[in-house]
Amino acid sequence: MNFNLSDDQDAPSSASLALIVDDDQVMRLLISEALEAEGLRTVSAGNGREALELFISAQPDIMLLDLVLPDLDGFEVCRRIREDPENEHLPILMITGLDDLATVNRAYLTGATDFMPKPVNIIILSQRVHYMLQASHSLVRLTESEKRLANAQRIAKLGHWEWDIIADRLYLSREAVHILGLEQGGSRTIEDIVTAVHVQDRETVRGAFDRIGEKDTFVGFDCRLDASSLDERFVHLQGEVTFDNQGRRAALAGTVQDVTERKLAEQQIRYLAYFDSLTGLPNRRLFTERLQESIARCRRTGSQMALLFLDLDRFKRINDTLGHHAGDRLLAEVARRLNTCVRDIDVVARENDDEGLVTVARPGGDEFSILLQNIARPTDAAKVARRIQQVLRKPVMLDGQRVFVTASIGISLFPDDGNDIGDLLKNADLALYHVKDHGKDGYHYYSAAINDGAVSEFHVESGLRQALEEDLLCLMFQPQVDIDSGAVVGAEVLVRLNHPDLGILPPDRFIHLAEDTGLIVPLGEWVLRHGCRQYMAWRAAGLPDFRMAVNVSTVQFHRSEFGNTVGRTLVATGMPPERLELELTESILMDDSASLLATLGALKQRGIRLIVDDFGTGYSSLRYLKVFPLDGLKIDRSFIMDIPQDIDDVALTEAIIAMARSLRLEVVAEGVETAEQLDFLRRRACTTVQGFRFSPPVDADTFANLLARGFPV
Ligand code: C2E
Ligand code: MG
Ligand code: MG
Repeated sequence: MNFNLSDDQDAPSSASLALIVDDDQVMRLLISEALEAEGLRTVSAGNGREALELFISAQPDIMLLDLVLPDLDGFEVCRRIREDPENEHLPILMITGLDDLATVNRAYLTGATDFMPKPVNIIILSQRVHYMLQASHSLVRLTESEKRLANAQRIAKLGHWEWDIIADRLYLSREAVHILGLEQGGSRTIEDIVTAVHVQDRETVRGAFDRIGEKDTFVGFDCRLDASSLDERFVHLQGEVTFDNQGRRAALAGTVQDVTERKLAEQQIRYLAYFDSLTGLPNRRLFTERLQESIARCRRTGSQMALLFLDLDRFKRINDTLGHHAGDRLLAEVARRLNTCVRDIDVVARENDDEGLVTVARPGGDEFSILLQNIARPTDAAKVARRIQQVLRKPVMLDGQRVFVTASIGISLFPDDGNDIGDLLKNADLALYHVKDHGKDGYHYYSAAINDGAVSEFHVESGLRQALEEDLLCLMFQPQVDIDSGAVVGAEVLVRLNHPDLGILPPDRFIHLAEDTGLIVPLGEWVLRHGCRQYMAWRAAGLPDFRMAVNVSTVQFHRSEFGNTVGRTLVATGMPPERLELELTESILMDDSASLLATLGALKQRGIRLIVDDFGTGYSSLRYLKVFPLDGLKIDRSFIMDIPQDIDDVALTEAIIAMARSLRLEVVAEGVETAEQLDFLRRRACTTVQGFRFSPPVDADTFANLLARGFPV
């Protein structure tokens, strides 16, 4: 027999030490000799106190303890040793002369590992000590390995559990209890795990545990924990079933792992990949996925849906004048308004509370996309578009300034306008550009007619660059007539593009492109220069004097040193400033800035006339009429068009003329086509008119003839 367990790698390397406690010296010697003969080291004590002292100083691996001692008895010594949890597993062999049952029981209760009756059989004692040491070493190894496991589980945030299905008894490791947020201790059932989980995930968990073994013997899934704390926590639950020999589900053993960090990282990545960080709206990728899904749904259910493309009008201008920071805030505000606006859209038939029937996304820049699923009829999309435009029209405060935004919206419908995602996107885009081309601030459905016109857009842009380089632009002049005398008192200069492939193009086809590309600046300068030169040529030819109106684009006004350009052109051409009139859009005038006032003041100072073009179509605030040094306004064609049939337009036109008169502003009515319109305007004391009733825009030679002749009334 070998007591030295040092060949076992987990055991101490030196021989085990036995503490022998007996008041009988002979007995101590006998036992000590026997154990040393077997390779053990020994120390011994003759009474209880000595035993306790020696126990502390020598730290024995096993203790042989006589029950009857002179001072403290063996029970007391044993009890005191066991008091320290460190000594919980130390093998203590109690040696007793009293072998009645009560004593044996008491020995075990006070913590003896085993007992042995006197008289001691030395051979049996040696054997007993050997096995006790062996068992003790195994126990130490087990405890250590359990500790290591617990530590590993803590680090991995991994707990394990076992469920005795038949008895519904659940064992949870310490870490499992911790992860699930339960109290330590107490008896448990599988419901403890289920109720630790988030209410909405409980059915999933219960279902998985109930069904395990029917098909698979293994389950694994992620779920949320009950949100008792503010932070959302996620766990991964895994379990494997075992069967008893009657084939019944007997036990389920599994793990629970805290995977919150992984989940949060996943969420963050998903957010970055699918959402726009400025507005929090879905980005292009997510929108495209939703669109794809809803096309599939529409195909299955035969329902209709609409795709709206929204583009903010003149956003570039805000970015350029107020800075990117203000631009960003404007976009965020627009996103917020769109979200609140679509949330209470009632035209979309809601089925079973299905969320996501409306998706608002920001694919990029100043563009927004809106997906309306399951609409009842195509006109529902227009209702939404109108509502959006109404909501956006309220001014936004940016850096203490009231900024007005309008939007252009293009609409395409599934299945009418395209059977796949590519067609729907393309057609919504074409519809949007149609709106942009036709005065912005509106909405339009896609139609095949738009398509034909837009195919050549690309051509137009490249043609525009070429035209600027090669002087392929040309000017037309439309007379402005004094309503009483019929004399031509002015001309509006209107540009045309002589496109290499497409022929003569009207400004609607290329001005917005010029604005988007910045080409509007050289283009505007070209128009002004050539207009002035033409004027001077007419003057030199001795034609009657008149004033010449030139259109100014908002972008051009803000992008260039506009005032200086005009000044230089006047000097270069010799054009008399008081004969030049600049047609400004309302959007130029909406800006309250001091620099705008300075630019306009400087132009006015030179004697240039300033008038507001397309009056009434832009913004409702008329404050600017008093703030800026203006000379007149042009009532937009859209108001004149339906006069005198449309009583609203009649009232509006009357009001504009009356207001202009009180502000001492000249009124030009544009788009006059009929005798009735002319008659109406004359009776309301409008002074100047322009329109096809007199002449369309004409070339320079034709205009010279009209100028000389006038229009007899
Ligand atoms: P606008 O300044 O409102 O010019 C008037 C437009 O109405 C012109 O169209 C003119 O041909 C049209 N018009 C005039 N009388 C009548 C009428 O009785 N009936 C109808 N149906 N139309 C009439 P045009 O030449 O196509 O110009 C469209 C717009 O393009 C202009 O609107 C102006 O905003 C812009 N534009 C034209 N030339 C220039 C330019 O040189 N620079 C800039 N920045 N914009 C320009
Ligand atoms: Mg004009
Ligand atoms: Mg106009």
